[in-house]
Amino acid sequence: MPRDYYEILGVSRDASENEIKKAYRQLAMRYHPDKNPGNKEAEEKFKEIAQAYAVLSDPEKRKKYDQFGEAAFDSTAGAGYAQVDPFDLFQSIFGGRGGGFSSIFDDFFTGAGGGWGGDRVLRGDDLRTTVTLDLETVARGATVDIKLNRLEPCGTCGGTGAKPGSQPVSCTQCGGRGQIRRTQRTFFGHFSSVETCPACHGSGKEIRERCRDCSGEGRVNRRRTIEVKIPPGIEDGMIIRVRGEGDVGPHGGPAGDLHVAVRIREHEFFERRGRDLICHVPVSYPQLVLGTEIEVPTLQKDSRGNQRFTRIRIPPGTDTHTIFRVRGFGLPDIHSSQKGDLLVSVEIAIPKKVSREEADLLRSLEEISSPTQSSRFSEKIRHIFRHR
Ligand SMILES: [Zn+2]
Ligand SMILES: [Zn+2]
Repeated sequence: MPRDYYEILGVSRDASENEIKKAYRQLAMRYHPDKNPGNKEAEEKFKEIAQAYAVLSDPEKRKKYDQFGEAAFDSTAGAGYAQVDPFDLFQSIFGGRGGGFSSIFDDFFTGAGGGWGGDRVLRGDDLRTTVTLDLETVARGATVDIKLNRLEPCGTCGGTGAKPGSQPVSCTQCGGRGQIRRTQRTFFGHFSSVETCPACHGSGKEIRERCRDCSGEGRVNRRRTIEVKIPPGIEDGMIIRVRGEGDVGPHGGPAGDLHVAVRIREHEFFERRGRDLICHVPVSYPQLVLGTEIEVPTLQKDSRGNQRFTRIRIPPGTDTHTIFRVRGFGLPDIHSSQKGDLLVSVEIAIPKKVSREEADLLRSLEEISSPTQSSRFSEKIRHIFRHR
């Protein structure tokens, strides 16, 4: 669950007080329990939003939060933090007249609530979500299913917000144009400007009888599964924008976008270094001394979907931690799709326990190995390990 207050409200860290308020209003409206009866998730969200807003709307608290994060408001720290009542907060922001949610809702859509920017209301919100991928997916790319809640056109009213059988009528304030002309008389003459109609927020429509299923908003909350294409080589922290998969706007307004933040899960065997992959393969002392061939798994698959392995020849006398480069077995570059390399670090593995026989052999090996006896040494070692 995101605990970042800015993330909860979907605003940037340098958002103005006004933007924060706007974000709160929009989200609180969407997740209000009256509008999502029986939806526990929405209720949690509603509380979370209130919490975030209570802190970020207060300059003092916001400063503290920026500095110390949520710890600044830990109730045990006694920093003057009190749990906010999300309903009180909602009431105070929307100025409900005791009529509960629906009257507030009415105010909002007749424009009496005020304070909402024109096109902000018409276009739906962008949505954010996170997807965690494994390195296999990074190597090959994939289409992943993402489940989310979003606002979609209300089927009952077809997105108009008007009760079935009724129709939205032309807005009486602007005559259906969605804009109003204001003329000001000043010392220098008459000036006129065109503004978005505050009553219909530019839609030019007025709803007399609201659709019950969407409370006149023309959109309802739905659980959806969205297919998102993951390009090969995607990196941790990248954000994929999927156009038009966010919330639809009220009254049939266009949909916002979906932003998918990508996290890459750590792999048990491979470590990512840009386009290259590195892995650490344990080998024995005799293998390094005598040389050998090892088989190393890769992230690639053959045509039948089996994991591909690559063979590496370790020449005699190889030092521990020597890195072998296998060209083209790394990850694709997200831009050029050029492949990186696989780096295989061979590392001596020291056994923690040996048998009596092994111990004896190792001791005699130690006795005979001195630089002047190097030829006898290699002869002997061949003899010793032939019998393993
Ligand atoms: Zn409806
Ligand atoms: Zn109007």
